[in-house]
Amino acid sequence: MSQLEKIRNAESKLLLQTYDRNPILFVNGEDVHLIDENGTRYLDLLGGIGVNALGYNHPAIIDAIARQSKELIHISNLFYHRGQAELAEKLTKLTGLDRVFFSNSGTEAWEGALKLARAHAGLLRSEGRHIGTKFLALEHSFHGRTFGSVSTTWKAKYREPFAPTLDGIEFVRFNDVADLRAKFSNEVCAILIEVIQGEGGIRPVSREFFAAARELATSTGALLIADEIQAGTGRTGKWCAYQHYGIKPDVTTLAKQLAGGIPLGAILCTDEAARAIHAGMHGTTFGGGPLACAVACAVIDTIERDGLLDNATKVGGYFIEQLCGLEKKHPAIIDVRGKGLMLAAELNSADLAKKVVAELLARHIVINCTSETVLRFLPPYILKKSHVDEAIRALDEILTEEEQSLATAGAAKGAING
Ligand SMILES: *Cc1c(COP(=O)(O)O)cnc(C)c1O
Repeated sequence: MSQLEKIRNAESKLLLQTYDRNPILFVNGEDVHLIDENGTRYLDLLGGIGVNALGYNHPAIIDAIARQSKELIHISNLFYHRGQAELAEKLTKLTGLDRVFFSNSGTEAWEGALKLARAHAGLLRSEGRHIGTKFLALEHSFHGRTFGSVSTTWKAKYREPFAPTLDGIEFVRFNDVADLRAKFSNEVCAILIEVIQGEGGIRPVSREFFAAARELATSTGALLIADEIQAGTGRTGKWCAYQHYGIKPDVTTLAKQLAGGIPLGAILCTDEAARAIHAGMHGTTFGGGPLACAVACAVIDTIERDGLLDNATKVGGYFIEQLCGLEKKHPAIIDVRGKGLMLAAELNSADLAKKVVAELLARHIVINCTSETVLRFLPPYILKKSHVDEAIRALDEILTEEEQSLATAGAAKGAING
């Protein structure tokens, strides 16, 4: 029995069966490549679902882990260490927001942001303002797997098995300004937006919709909360996707790429929103630990030093151009969208999308499919044009073969019917 088979058998008996894994055992990585147990190299255009911003085995991350692990790995939040203020200084400067709370994951950052919105509305009520406790979330949103997060997540399959989820959440049609205006009132404590929806299929919010959300929230004191867990930390060529719009939220959440593979999340907010939080109201054992903070600082410094935002813009721009070329050639591609290195090609069939992902994997290229029909690319920021060329060649080949086999099947059927 191979090592992979042994592990598969063991996992099938021992683990909660939450994941439908691909039958590959990865043991190593280098730059934008993953390496399996047989030494086969895979071009990774998914990056651990948007986490491995610097790829694999990056010296900056290895050094930061080695250095920090010899000093302090963990210390409670009852004491100071050097990392939180240093990282918060960088993040506030890069995002334009004032204050930070560190968590361990995306969903925890999101939970904290929801709690902050409720607490802030409570503070405003205590000051005589009329503001309620409702949240407006968007259709096709994804915010994570804990209770508040699934409650504000659109897909019923993520919510319904765990019912009852949180009350007081209403979903607004994506990019529908009229629906937003109709559902907004001073009962709302926050509007929740992924600036570019990730799991929902790489869908950017429109300028009009985002601007309307900003204007409505400001009009009552409600918070505009931008979930940048997937789109943020430089993925789109700016530190946060909202910076492409020139619109600033009151609160944003980061995670995935933030510490390049070490778990870390962050809530960033304005001084105004932060007024709602006092000592003891919120906290975490692990969040913002010395190791995660040191690695996040190293990731940010490396992105700046190596010009990786520009690289994301340049190589991402080339990537989307090439995908648009394929769209012209292959009718199966019905849309190409995204920004920087957060890209998607939508296909006309879920079966085909599944097949393309499997065929790419057979050619040692890793991507995934989200929202049934959307091929998603979230590669490391160190991606080069030559990697894009490799992926585009493979995609072109796969789609061409598919079209040929469809044509052959069609001709055979025609011959039988004729
Ligand atoms: C991944 C993701 C989350 C959840 O992050 P976890 O670290 O998996 O909890 C929340 N929001 C968005 C937009 C995400 O992409």
